[in-house]
Amino acid sequence: MADLPLKGGPLEPGQTIGILGGGQLGRMLATAAARLGFDVVILDPEPDAPAGRVAAHTIVASYDDPQGLEALGAAAGIVTYEFENVPAQAVARLAEMGVEVAPGPLALRIAQDRLEEKTFLNGHGAPTVAFAAADTPEAAVAAAEQLGLPVLMKTRREGYDGKGQRWVEHAADAAAAFRALGGVPVILEAAAEFVRELSVIAARGRDGATAVYPLAENHHEGGILRRSIAPARVTPALADQAERIAARVLAGLDYVGVIGIELFEMADGRLLVNEIAPRVHNTGHWTLDGCEVDQFEQHIRAIAGWPLGPTVAVARVEMLNLLGEEADQWLKFAAEPETRLHLYGKRDAKPGRKMGHVNRVKPL
Ligand code: AMP
Repeated sequence: MADLPLKGGPLEPGQTIGILGGGQLGRMLATAAARLGFDVVILDPEPDAPAGRVAAHTIVASYDDPQGLEALGAAAGIVTYEFENVPAQAVARLAEMGVEVAPGPLALRIAQDRLEEKTFLNGHGAPTVAFAAADTPEAAVAAAEQLGLPVLMKTRREGYDGKGQRWVEHAADAAAAFRALGGVPVILEAAAEFVRELSVIAARGRDGATAVYPLAENHHEGGILRRSIAPARVTPALADQAERIAARVLAGLDYVGVIGIELFEMADGRLLVNEIAPRVHNTGHWTLDGCEVDQFEQHIRAIAGWPLGPTVAVARVEMLNLLGEEADQWLKFAAEPETRLHLYGKRDAKPGRKMGHVNRVKPL
């Protein structure tokens, strides 16, 4: 860990952690940090961001605003982020000021571009579906022909929750799909005929120590995570495979913090990586009520240079995202003895917006 030592040892309680992004992930990170005695400063363009309302300080500024970044860097001993589309210049600016950002710029760069991501994964012993890049409609048609149909076309950058993606059934349709996605560089992916979607949440500390959570089984609707069940019922061999993938990705990125790795379980028992998220992850929310140390505290421990905590499951959890008006049922959820309610304090319940989640807890 030559490039990321905290000057003068671990961050101490009473010191300040900066978080780029003030959504629900920032809010749960801020809460975990506060529990360990840290102050948190949030930078978010919105004045009323969910994380800002539980943090010690909020800087309202865009992510590339030099003054905002200056203020963040001046206040925080270390800066982290809650989403992977933080502009690379923001991290570079903080680094110029001598402020450490974790996870580091390599993880951010890889996770921001699906082509770089898949290339990195395959180069580090973490297999993915077959893929090809295209920058023109003609190249998209050629890539679709080469991969076989159907193929999933995704924008290389800035897709999330199933946005920026299109299935292509006939090679000739790839040109229209390319244009419909905005004419930006894309990646085409072979269709994964998976039997299940799983994910593994893992962490790496500043000393290179790693910790891996039990796998979660995930169900999506309309590209948005609906439900996770964890620990997923898996064979020891499958759990082993996931751990090996996590170890390779963490080491390859010289990573510090928590990472989310989305996996496809194939019929032949192989795991393919769908994507990596260099942050705490929606499919890890079950750990809040299902593990010794949850993913949010784990991330704070890792970036602060503290020892990682145990990832052992203490309960079996069904995590259900509360989308839009579903969160209005809070009183019903609060009355269920097995249900732990987590609300994000968002004011505006737009359809499909993640307003909160519940963890339904059962004995292991
Ligand atoms: P992503 O935005 O890459 O996480 O994709 C969102 C969802 O689309 C995944 O959770 C899968 O359900 C599905 N998906 C993504 N890539 C593929 C693929 N290559 N083959 C089949 N389904 C996919």
